[in-house]
Amino acid sequence: MRKTTFLKSLSEIEIIIKKCQVCHVAMVDPAGKPYVLPFNFGYNDGTVYLHSDYKGKKIAILKDNPSVCINFSTDHEMFLAHEQVACSYGMAYRSVLVYGEVEFIEGREAKTEAMNIFMKQYVTRDFTYSNPAIDNVCLYKVKIQDFQGKMYHHETLE
Ligand SMILES: Cc1cc2nc3c(=O)[nH]c(=O)nc-3n(C[C@H](O)[C@H](O)[C@H](O)COP(=O)(O)OP(=O)(O)OC[C@H]3O[C@@H](n4cnc5c(N)ncnc54)[C@H](O)[C@@H]3O)c2cc1C
Repeated sequence: MRKTTFLKSLSEIEIIIKKCQVCHVAMVDPAGKPYVLPFNFGYNDGTVYLHSDYKGKKIAILKDNPSVCINFSTDHEMFLAHEQVACSYGMAYRSVLVYGEVEFIEGREAKTEAMNIFMKQYVTRDFTYSNPAIDNVCLYKVKIQDFQGKMYHHETLE
């Protein structure tokens, strides 16, 4: 038996976001064409932090249209009821969609704070950053305006 559970609270979706190493950021170019990219990220207090070069297609798109939808998914696990029945196979997952607008982060202090949040997604240690390192990285954040969370699993799986 397959079970779908929708998650309603920020605290529930935060658990999923904090388990992820990568997110996928969907944006829409000026011609209305979708563009989705994998990103590393940081998360703190209802806000997703992203970093990149200052140039490239994504930056041009986000400057024109800052609206994004970001997907996080984790705990992928295949399950099956009958080995020989293709439609009895399924993939358990926990997945989150968040919606918001990209805001570019300016100033060394704010950028350093954002880098620290970013790195905390991956390692527990603290870092110091040289001025050129901070100046050369483009940092942006997405305050979560709306979200949906979903868990899909076989009822025998936790
Ligand atoms: C696991 C993972 C984590 C990543 N984390 C980051 C991150 O934190 N920050 C970051 O800046 N980038 C990250 N990247 C790379 C990111 O997905 C983009 O490739 C990169 O940022 C360049 O995007 P752009 O729009 O500036 O492309 P441009 O350099 O302008 O590229 C031009 C063209 O290349 C193609 N292209 C760009 N990216 C991809 C892609 N990922 N796959 C296939 N084709 C592509 C597109 O067709 C695009 O039109 C990550 C990639 C992976 C797989």
